[in-house]
Amino acid sequence: MAEEQFAFQAEIAQLMSLIINTFYSNKEIFLRELVSNASDALDKIRYQALTEPSELDSGKELYIKITPNKAEKTLTIFDSGIGMTKADLVNNLGTIAKSGTKAFMEALQAGADISMIGQFGVGFYSAFLVADKVVVTSKHNDDDCHVWESSAGGSFTVKTVNDPEVTRGTKITMHIKEDQIEYLEERKIKEIIKKHSQFIGYPIKLVVEKEREKEVEDDEADEEKEEKKEGEVENVGEDEDADKKNEKKTKKIKEKYTEDEELNKQKPIWTRNPDDISNEEYAEFYKSLSNDWEDHLAVKHFSVEGQLEFRALLYVPQRAPFDLFENKKAKNSIKLYVRRVFIMENCDELMPEYLNFVRGVVDSEDLPLNISREMLQQSKILKVIRKNLVKKCIELFEEIAEDKDNFKKFYEHFGKNLKLGIHEDSTNRKKLADFLRYSSSTSGEEVTSLKDYVSRMKENQSQIYYITGESKDAVANSAFVERVRKGGFEVLYMVDPIDEYCVQQLKEYDGKKLVSVTKEGLELPTSEEQKKKFEEDKVKFENLCKAVKDILEKKVEKVAVSERLVSSPCCIVTSEYGWSANMERIMKAQALRDSSTMGYMAAKKHLEINPDHAIIKTLAERVEADKNDKTVKDLVNLLFETALLSSGFTLEDPTQHASRIFRMIKLGLDINEEDEEENLPSGSGVSSDAPKVEGAAEDASRMEEVD
Ligand code: ADP
Repeated sequence: MAEEQFAFQAEIAQLMSLIINTFYSNKEIFLRELVSNASDALDKIRYQALTEPSELDSGKELYIKITPNKAEKTLTIFDSGIGMTKADLVNNLGTIAKSGTKAFMEALQAGADISMIGQFGVGFYSAFLVADKVVVTSKHNDDDCHVWESSAGGSFTVKTVNDPEVTRGTKITMHIKEDQIEYLEERKIKEIIKKHSQFIGYPIKLVVEKEREKEVEDDEADEEKEEKKEGEVENVGEDEDADKKNEKKTKKIKEKYTEDEELNKQKPIWTRNPDDISNEEYAEFYKSLSNDWEDHLAVKHFSVEGQLEFRALLYVPQRAPFDLFENKKAKNSIKLYVRRVFIMENCDELMPEYLNFVRGVVDSEDLPLNISREMLQQSKILKVIRKNLVKKCIELFEEIAEDKDNFKKFYEHFGKNLKLGIHEDSTNRKKLADFLRYSSSTSGEEVTSLKDYVSRMKENQSQIYYITGESKDAVANSAFVERVRKGGFEVLYMVDPIDEYCVQQLKEYDGKKLVSVTKEGLELPTSEEQKKKFEEDKVKFENLCKAVKDILEKKVEKVAVSERLVSSPCCIVTSEYGWSANMERIMKAQALRDSSTMGYMAAKKHLEINPDHAIIKTLAERVEADKNDKTVKDLVNLLFETALLSSGFTLEDPTQHASRIFRMIKLGLDINEEDEEENLPSGSGVSSDAPKVEGAAEDASRMEEVD
């Protein structure tokens, strides 16, 4: 086949030139990345061979081999893994962009370190940190052997070759840059492998150069001997010597030869006794497992025995990976082994989705070696393992929670996951709820747990009050919080979109119902006196409520007297089990959502009026005086729209609202509507079809007074 040339995908080309041109001293990580890719490729062929043993006909031994060649200035890394077909070479090494390419460049610009490359799934290109030309020879069982070659510069070539060394697997040869030849030193390579790759599960062999002494026949010496025999008298009587002298003379010369030296002879770390493992070792293993550049935040190493036997090592990272919630199909990060043999990565059945940030390994004694993905889904053993893993994760979080700073960090990154867990995992909901932390009306800069909230509850308080919304400031100033705060009760501020989902499932904590202050069903402890007044108010404002409902028609479900307001004239509450204003906002923001569901799912709105507010009192008087007062109609609409806004909803027709407001402003400024209209050019901003407000000047000034 002729050589074909390909252009690197634009972002990849950009990344490569960044890698080549950035001044960066910690270049050694290239070796870790390539060894890690080799190990992944070996994992893949081993997994395939479990069900299809003939896949290994092209080579049974699974290993990685590193060959430095000082004369040629090349460093070669070979793995007998799955290899790449021609299409794989073209796609994986250059033409298909991954989300990580861009994300990594952005991270670099933001000050990230090149050593983080592995986390972004573009580790291969780190080869260009030390090489100016990279040649990849690869053979997959399903295709011929091909060679990929690039000296960067925006393009690469691929052609078929016949390389007897590569019967299956991948050989990456790097032509090392002049100033990077230290990476050809045996000592250097050993040091890097020990540092970054000691836990790789396949033998890593280094081809080392050795010297040995070899005896060879010494022709010159023989000649000398001949001369001696003729000329000198030898010592006699010492038989041994005499024998030697009869032998042919030899000499020792130094001979160079190469030998494979295995660099990683460690037992898998999880099979060792936790007492003998230092935190540094756990950290090294974590890094090799996760490609993380930082140590883990917490680790749990345990074994389970009894009906079922397995060992596991679970890690919580310090931060969330850049794409934690990006992938639609959530994959988790647990590697499954069966009796020390690697079976598969990201085994879905091992962890629920919300724990997908926990990394680790599980090594089962009970599963069959040739287990397929399909069998795993059915496996009872796996279900039991999963239950245990979740339990241990929760224990691990409890351990993290013992240190306030650590927990803060943890919660910042994985709080969403815990909330997702509360939503999804009914079995562990209660335990997970203990980890929740919220700002509240009394917490200041700190956050509070539900447990602490409950310990501060007033004697007559039976419910936990919360409000959901867009930000802490927005909810703290909300009219809904007023009365509750005024009564001396604490309100939790839930300002993460996922809180809406979480609290819907949680419903209660420690036997106390969680009640939204923006929804129906809020019951503040009240005195007999207050109760009496409320009943009286209901009667007193019955006509107003009816009139308002008639005006607003279908826009509201119900109009009622409120017990929750202090300084606002009215507010919109939603039904207990329907969407809140915040939920409606979240739903509207989901671009891909089918908007037809919005209709019936949208929040059911109740308008609540404040019986102590002057606006409401005056409106009531107006209604009593004249049921059909036209001013009332317009003012009620304005009040309703304003209440929607202050309660966190968006307006369906903001221009209409705006024209109502403009009219009010004009009235406030004593601008005569008719004079104005004469002066206005046609098509001006104020719509003339806005409802007419008759006698509203009077009202506006009255409103000013009450405000
Ligand atoms: P990542 O390994 O994180 O996916 P890389 O840029 O390091 O990203 O590698 C890109 C892809 O190239 C890999 O996903 C894999 O499919 C393929 N690849 C790289 N190295 C090897 C190898 N030694 N053997 C087989 N495939 C490989």
